Amino acid sequence: MGMFRCGYRRRTLLITTVFTALVVCLPVTSLLGWGFQAHREVNGRAVDLLPAPLGDYFQRQRPWLVALSTDADQRRQFLPAEAPNHYIDLEYYDAPPLDSIPRERKAAEKKFGKDNLPEWGTLPWHILGITRALKDAFEDGEWERAVVLAADLGHYLADGHMPLHTTINYNGKQTGNDGIHHLFETTMIRRHFDDYRPAGLELPAITDPAENVFAWLAESYGYIGALLAADSAGRTGLTEAQLATLTQGYSADPATIPDSYLDRLYEATGPLAWRQLDRSTARLAALWVWAWEQAGSPQPPD
Ligand SMILES: [Zn+2]
Repeated sequence: MGMFRCGYRRRTLLITTVFTALVVCLPVTSLLGWGFQAHREVNGRAVDLLPAPLGDYFQRQRPWLVALSTDADQRRQFLPAEAPNHYIDLEYYDAPPLDSIPRERKAAEKKFGKDNLPEWGTLPWHILGITRALKDAFEDGEWERAVVLAADLGHYLADGHMPLHTTINYNGKQTGNDGIHHLFETTMIRRHFDDYRPAGLELPAITDPAENVFAWLAESYGYIGALLAADSAGRTGLTEAQLATLTQGYSADPATIPDSYLDRLYEATGPLAWRQLDRSTARLAALWVWAWEQAGSPQPPD
């Protein structure tokens, strides 16, 4: 445990420093996960939900929490080992309600094979590891480290609320929905982000973060069918050439994606996308508060 804490701390700070510097050099199109705006919005709005005095401190760190919200995706461009932290292919592990998946990573490695986890995805254990590290940072009075960890936590938690980050069929290839990942989480979100009106942001009760996190992932997984169905409906009537534009992924020029497809996709899945961002925001604030309270609700620095 001690080694984990120290190793995590050093690695996180080093990596964050290096890759924050690189953020400005990368084209926006290289982002993965929810679009840039969505991650920033989740981390920023979560600050508004915090009680004092934690809320006062985080409010002052808000630009930093927002700026670091996409750092994890930037790291991913350069560190192959970072990728599995952003997803979990649940089909390899268990069907919802995910009761048989060990909540401790070591136990999961034992059950499923240590070499398999980096292939199948490690998102929940990564979220839980950061939550514990955040509690430790609060306990140790290391507030700068806490802010870095809190920002990262927001990123991974939001990724977990993107249904296609929970499945082996993450880009719809298995079901004739090739390209849906990027179309839903980036193209559609960017096109309609001005319509987003956060709602119902109430902090859920956290009794055991592990149980909460796995329940949230099971919930997210439950939306995959609706998402793929909406994509299929949006594709009906398109020409071969139009269909080909849907599979270009991150290299696509959004202007080439047929409006009729994006309009139908948004009509069917826009509310789901916004709801998942609302949930990410409230649940992130709740995990921050949980870690802070578990650390004894320490007084932040002035
Ligand atoms: Zn991500």
